[in-house]
Amino acid sequence: MIAGPCSVESKQQTLEIAHAVKEAGAVGLRGGAFKPRTSPYAFQGLAEKGLQILAEAREQTGLAIVTEVMAVDQVKLVTDYADVLQVGARNMQNFNLLNAVGEARKPVLLKRGMSATLEEFLLAAEYIMSKGNSQVMLCERGIRTYEEYVRNTLALAAVPELHRVSHLPVVIDPSQGTGKNHLVDSMCRAAVAAGADGLIIEVHNDPEHAMTDGAQSITPKQFDDMMKAIRRIALAVDREV
Ligand code: PEP
Ligand code: MN
Repeated sequence: MIAGPCSVESKQQTLEIAHAVKEAGAVGLRGGAFKPRTSPYAFQGLAEKGLQILAEAREQTGLAIVTEVMAVDQVKLVTDYADVLQVGARNMQNFNLLNAVGEARKPVLLKRGMSATLEEFLLAAEYIMSKGNSQVMLCERGIRTYEEYVRNTLALAAVPELHRVSHLPVVIDPSQGTGKNHLVDSMCRAAVAAGADGLIIEVHNDPEHAMTDGAQSITPKQFDDMMKAIRRIALAVDREV
């Protein structure tokens, strides 16, 4: 379980959330320091300052840090701070970036592009592995469809299908995958039941005032309740908790 804010906004915000998700049972802390935003005028992330805050959160909690690297020239910097390099949906076919993280010696969380087929997704993972980095996690984070009640359509069938054709672990991101905080809990339960190897969830201590993705962020209390429900589901489908 990887949980944390969409963006690192401040030291206080990040540390508060980190302690809360650790307490509830998360093993990884997510948080963007480099943010891929639709508008160039929107908050772009705290960059290295954000990475330093994440490193402090790791020191205090022991959580592994999962954070996005957006460009080839950021790989060294992000690798110095992160435990897992996240390649975002918008960069799934940035082949230079895939090659660069393939040369890094850190695990990679590769997000499915919002218009990518599973085959394209798997071939993107191949770019990373072909450079010698076999530590790749596939992250389904929803695809773009005509449907409007959700931000993205979370393709949960990707879990068993990716397991059928690949040995790589599959992580579900129901936060980007739905865009709605009230849908996160159900999609997490379904993902666990479907055999997902991991979950990555956006948790914010004040979702209404989050700088990014507040509408899809759950509170630490909701996260804690959800963790309890997920454990019950995992047990019910004979999975380890
Ligand atoms: C995120 O995890 O906050 C994010 C931007 O993800 P994606 O690349 O899946 O949109
Ligand atoms: Mn986000």
